[in-house]
This record gives sequence, C-alpha cells and structure tokens, in this order.
Amino acid sequence: MTTRPSVLITGASTGIGAIYAERFARRGHDLVLVARDKARLDTLATRLSQESGVAVDVIQADLTKSGDLSIVEARLRDDARIGILINNAGAAQSGSFIEQTAEANERLIALNTTALVRLASAVAPRFVKAGEGAIINISSVVGLAPEFGMTVYGATKAFVLFLSQGLSLELAPKGVYVQAVLPAATRTEIWERAGIDIKTLPEVMEVGELVDAALVGFDRRELVTIPPLQNAARWDALDGARQGLLSEIKQSQVAQRYQTAS
Ligand code: NAP
Repeated sequence: MTTRPSVLITGASTGIGAIYAERFARRGHDLVLVARDKARLDTLATRLSQESGVAVDVIQADLTKSGDLSIVEARLRDDARIGILINNAGAAQSGSFIEQTAEANERLIALNTTALVRLASAVAPRFVKAGEGAIINISSVVGLAPEFGMTVYGATKAFVLFLSQGLSLELAPKGVYVQAVLPAATRTEIWERAGIDIKTLPEVMEVGELVDAALVGFDRRELVTIPPLQNAARWDALDGARQGLLSEIKQSQVAQRYQTAS
C-alpha cells in the first residue's frame, strides 16, 4: 500500500490535466480523474494503472452543473486518501466582448471560477484538520494581461490567482500548501475548442515541459509558478509593488487629490 496521497485532477481527460495525471502516476500516487468524456478518462486510467501500477478512479462530471459538482465535492470531503487537489479544468473562448454571449460567459465563469471555489471549499476543512494537503490551481498569464484581448477569460484567471494567494494566506499556517500555476500559450486542445487556430500564435509551449516546470515549482512549494517567465525578479517586483500599495490605503482618509473639485 502506498503512503503517498491520492491526487484528484479536474479536466484530466486531455491536455495539461492528463499530463499531470501521468506525472503523478509515475511518482506513485493513486488518482481520481474528473472530466465529462468518460471514454477518454477510462482509456487514460487503464493506461496509467498498467504503466505505473497505481489505482485510478474516474468521475464523469460536467463542472458547470451544480449536481455534478456536488458529486466531486462529496468525494473530496469523504475520501481521506485524497491529499492533493488539482483545479485544472477550464476553457477559453474566442471573439471580442461584444461578440460573446451571456450564456457563453456564464458557462466560462462557472467552469473557470465557481467550480474551483466549490472544490477547494469542499476539501480545505479536511486538509486543515489533517494539518496537510495541497491545492494546485491553474490560472494563466492572461490573468496578468488585459492587453492580450481575452477579457472575460483573463478575468477568470486573475480570479484564480487572487483566490490562490488568499487561500495560501489562510491555509498555509495550517499546513496546507496552495500553488497558482500561470501557463502561457501551451499546445493543447483548448485553442481548437475555443475556435482559435493555434497556428496563429507566435509562440507555444509543449504541454509536457509546462507541467514538468509547474512540478518543479510544486516541489519547491512556490506560491506562484510562471513557467514561461524568464526573469523571476519581474514577478517579485510586481508583487512587491502591490504590497507597497497596501500601506498607502488609509481607509479613514480621502486622498489629497480627491479633496478638491478641480
Ligand atoms: P484542454 O486541453 O482543452 O483540456 C481541458 C480539460 O478540461 C479537458 O480534460 C476537458 O475534458 C475538461 N473540461 C472542459 N470543460 C469541462 C466541464 N464543463 N466539466 C468538466 N471538465 C471540463 O485545455 P488545457 O489547455 O489542458 O487547459 C487546462 C487548464 O489550463 C485550463 O484551466 C486553462 O485555462 C489553463 N491554461 C491553458 C493554457 C493553454 O494555452 N493551453 C494557457 C494558460 C492556462 P472534457 O471535455 O472531457 O470535459
């Protein structure tokens, strides 16, 4: 019997989630794989259990549906073997804001934000009680860059970064590790699914390299891992500037520049 925690991975049927599954299987972790496409999950589960000798369960769930989310929440709450949650399932969309429909935005926000909060919320009390556990949230560099022109998608990914930073502040003192991973364009199906031709992108990272880099950050217990960022000092400067802002926010005093009408 393995003493390594089981890993529950959302969006594990393909792309980044499937590679996480493969890498954690190779490390000897049992897996719980979640996505909508059961046939693909079953094929991956069979391959990984044969290759690595780990136990792999699958849960078919559409994480935009509250009822399906409840099933995954229950598993996270009740299965004490699960010690790592990877909130990876996500989608992008093409087009400008005025071309995107309310329904498409609602689905995107449900999958990219609500599902993560609900799953983290289901598992965090158990992790805190155990004094250990890890939550990996897949954000995106798009969440740092309104300039990239993917406004709603980027906003969901900024949410994921903030969520991770906040959760880390709350949970790290109780022994729970939280990591935000910010990939840049990576070769997966996400582009085709969103109706974007990957060939139009100037640069694309290979998915195995992305996940291996993210795991280096995981093993180092980094809070924010940005595999494509060449100069780490850039992130430190940005976060330092943000923290500098905090001491300047004085709730009881209107800033001088707003104390005059002109
Ligand atoms: P992908 O290849 O399209 O895979 C997405 C995964 O999410 C699939 O397993 C899909 O499985 C699952 N999924 C989609 N909708 C779902 C739903 N409603 N309910 C449950 N599962 C659902 O995408 P990826 O590139 O690996 O993306 C993984 C994460 O990385 C996402 O959060 C994405 O935003 C982020 N990311 C990707 C890139 C990139 O360039 N690839 C860059 C930055 C961040 P089913 O279809 O079987 O449900």
